[in-house]
Amino acid sequence: MINHDVIIIGAGLAGLTAAYNLAKEEVDVKVFDRLPKSGILDHPCGCMVSPVPNSITFKNSSEGILYKEVDFLFTEDMILEYPGKMEFIMPNGCKFGMAIENPQDEQIFQIDKEKVLIELAERAEREGAQLEYGTNVSKLLIEKGQVKGILASGQQVRSHLVLSGEGLSRRFSYQAGLFDSDPEAYIFSYAVHLLDLHLKKEEIGQIGYFGENLVQIPKSSVIFHSYGDDKALILISVLLDEYKWFFDKSVEEYLLNAISKVPFLEEIYKRGKAYEKNACWMKIAKPKKLVDHGFIGMGDSVAPLGHSSNSIAMLMGKEAANTAIEALQTQDYSYSALKSYNKWLESDLFGGVEFEAKLIMTLLNFSDSDLNKICNAFEGINLEPFFIGSRWDIIKASLKLLFKKRILKNWKLIRQLF
Ligand SMILES: Cc1cc2nc3c(=O)[nH]c(=O)nc-3n(C[C@H](O)[C@H](O)[C@H](O)COP(=O)(O)OP(=O)(O)OC[C@H]3O[C@@H](n4cnc5c(N)ncnc54)[C@H](O)[C@@H]3O)c2cc1C
Repeated sequence: MINHDVIIIGAGLAGLTAAYNLAKEEVDVKVFDRLPKSGILDHPCGCMVSPVPNSITFKNSSEGILYKEVDFLFTEDMILEYPGKMEFIMPNGCKFGMAIENPQDEQIFQIDKEKVLIELAERAEREGAQLEYGTNVSKLLIEKGQVKGILASGQQVRSHLVLSGEGLSRRFSYQAGLFDSDPEAYIFSYAVHLLDLHLKKEEIGQIGYFGENLVQIPKSSVIFHSYGDDKALILISVLLDEYKWFFDKSVEEYLLNAISKVPFLEEIYKRGKAYEKNACWMKIAKPKKLVDHGFIGMGDSVAPLGHSSNSIAMLMGKEAANTAIEALQTQDYSYSALKSYNKWLESDLFGGVEFEAKLIMTLLNFSDSDLNKICNAFEGINLEPFFIGSRWDIIKASLKLLFKKRILKNWKLIRQLF
């Protein structure tokens, strides 16, 4: 007994993009999300988007920016800002990072994710996808090694294929056997969201503060991220060996204490009004495969080292839908029918995500003195190619150009970073 051709877990960017592409081909698709309605974010997000040559390309038009590969128009009202600044500040006050002069020309922009999620949901529904919010999926139904559906609200719901866009939790990707080991580490992030900030132009962008002295717990950082010119979040991220918070004080106390030590953050925190707080755990693990019999993982549920990105999640949603459509046409839902989708594991896009995650983890692992040394090596150089994930392939070439004495001197540390 089959209830639907395809079941999708999670109405995030990946799940909704997959649902639209399946429904457009008249596939009977049902999406379950545990959140009560569309347009809610269950974890903090910087919401930055940037192109990746040949994979993620944008076209400007009078109505907005078209994300060509997934045929999605970010309308003007979904685009918050074009921030061009990202800085890292080290314990001794030294800074390094990137500054993009014309982010608008480079198509580096920040999306209003709530609005994007609402439009993605409406677009999928217009094509006939069935969305059910407020339903938590608790388990995959697996029979004789084949995923046959899900268990939600105590009911079995059966399908030929299950696509998981469950995000960071990765419960179903683990249950389906895509990972062969426990996560090597975890990143716990907690954010306070502020509004009514009236940010000045020079305050718009992202600033990361590193160093044990600031947060008073090892392997942590505090990040300021503006949203348009009126909102921002201040976020603390901590790298942990276990899926457990085991420090004396609550994470909020550590965050507030760190804010009070940085004049810029303290001023922003006092100026604004806190309107929301949210948190998430990232599981640092790379899957060995992205599919199994009757099952496909998408977006954050499978991306290397904990997370994918907004645009990659959408692209994976589309490609998962294409893989599912081919399987439905041949009525073959086995691993071998789906395995071409594993090509993502070796793709440049996953390479870029892995690079970015490794960079963050290495910075979190550095001692205060190594952080200062790294900063001294990079200070004054615009590291744009390092931080726009799309251009990580240019990094190697750029490094050659950056062979100045101070970089050579810190080469051992720099090798750990890249
Ligand atoms: C701190 C932080 C900052 C980030 N900044 C950026 C950035 O600047 N730019 C960028 O591109 N990316 C950023 N990301 C990553 C980006 O947010 C994700 O890659 C993207 O949201 C992944 O989309 P997704 O569809 O895979 O998952 P999600 O968007 O997380 O969607 C998952 C959905 O599944 C649902 N769900 C989960 N479990 C169940 C269940 N059991 N039953 C039913 N429903 C379920 C959830 O409710 C949710 O709606 C950031 C992430 C973090 C944590």
